[in-house]
Amino acid sequence: METVVCPVCKQKLGVQAYIGVDSRVVCANPKCNTTLRITSRKPLKAEVVPVAQLINDPDSSPESYG
Ligand SMILES: [Zn+2]
Repeated sequence: METVVCPVCKQKLGVQAYIGVDSRVVCANPKCNTTLRITSRKPLKAEVVPVAQLINDPDSSPESYG
């Protein structure tokens, strides 16, 4: 299993082989709990997902149309 270091708390996180680019992983450190997005597989890299982006998730369709 590959590992990536959390940019926020430096915790090493295991990333399973099936987790591809653009997938999200949550930091294993309970005090950090930051959501990270896999930006690269080779080499394995992750960046912090801003909270605003989590709320405005394009995968979640809006319930109302105004
Ligand atoms: Zn972290």
